[in-house]
Amino acid sequence: MNTATIIDGKARAAELREQIAHAVSAFAMEVGRAPGLAVILVGEDPASQIYVRSKGRATAEAGMVSFEHRLDVTVSQVELLKLIETLNVDNRVDGILVQLPLPQHIDEDAVISCIDPSKDVDGFHVMNAGLLMVGKPGLVPCTPLGCLLLLKQHLGDLSGLEAVVIGRSNIVGKPMAQLLLAESCTVTIAHSRTRDLADVVRRADIIIAAAGRAEIVKSSWIKPGATVIDVGINRVTGESGKAKIVGDVEATAIEVASALTPVPGGVGPMTIAMLLRNALTAACARAGLPEIPLLARSDQTS
Ligand code: NAD
Repeated sequence: MNTATIIDGKARAAELREQIAHAVSAFAMEVGRAPGLAVILVGEDPASQIYVRSKGRATAEAGMVSFEHRLDVTVSQVELLKLIETLNVDNRVDGILVQLPLPQHIDEDAVISCIDPSKDVDGFHVMNAGLLMVGKPGLVPCTPLGCLLLLKQHLGDLSGLEAVVIGRSNIVGKPMAQLLLAESCTVTIAHSRTRDLADVVRRADIIIAAAGRAEIVKSSWIKPGATVIDVGINRVTGESGKAKIVGDVEATAIEVASALTPVPGGVGPMTIAMLLRNALTAACARAGLPEIPLLARSDQTS
């Protein structure tokens, strides 16, 4: 029986974080300060709190300075924008991240637009989205960037491959599709209105599943030998009655695919490593230093 190679995102992310930490200490020697990453959390959403804590820990472990701003859920949009404007002009801060989702009374687009694009380490600002679209250097969203790195490490040249991205969010699906297009894949984006998802998935050499629907991608749809990147994080109740996390791809895909990312331990750890990478990239650009050759531009767009 076929057994797919497990693409170990956790191990790859650990390697990258070690390289980033070395690059951070070289930066600090040259510039006289460590790169700084500001993280803003509004409210007390439990999942967001966990994400912010792990981002803060990873930032410190990489030798960067972490500025954490925890705001009450009642904070006004005006106050939040004022804080971002202060961070935009703070020279110790190279990257600004606002943890999403925000409370209903705050306009997410207005908040993202307020971040200086050169400090937009999430890569969500329309300026960075536009740069990605036209294939120019900018800050690229962390999750798709991490997926691309895993794919390139496993497959090498992606040119000419059929890639299907399931999901069209601004955070994952759309930037992922742009990155794959820049790698000369033939890209199809599937979404909630796609008529026959099975048929679309069947032709893919590369499947990126980012719908946030537990095991929506059936192993019978997967072309033998395809590479599967499972972005989904879905909390379900297991047979024992205990909660567990599953991806968007059926577990039996391991019997058909040539390689796949596990959930957890695949894309998730890469997202954090890419956040650190983006913070370092932003810091280097702001200090007038060349980009750290951790993930050279050609890796993203050639
Ligand atoms: P989202 O809800 O913004 O977007 C989901 C997308 O899936 C939509 O574009 C929708 O059209 C599509 N979709 C929904 N149902 C579908 C269906 N039945 N068939 C085809 N497409 C369908 O979510 P998102 O922010 O893009 O995140 C997607 C998933 O990835 C979530 O599970 C999220 O938790 C996970 N995620 C993981 C990481 C990580 O670091 N591992 C980071 C970001 C998001």
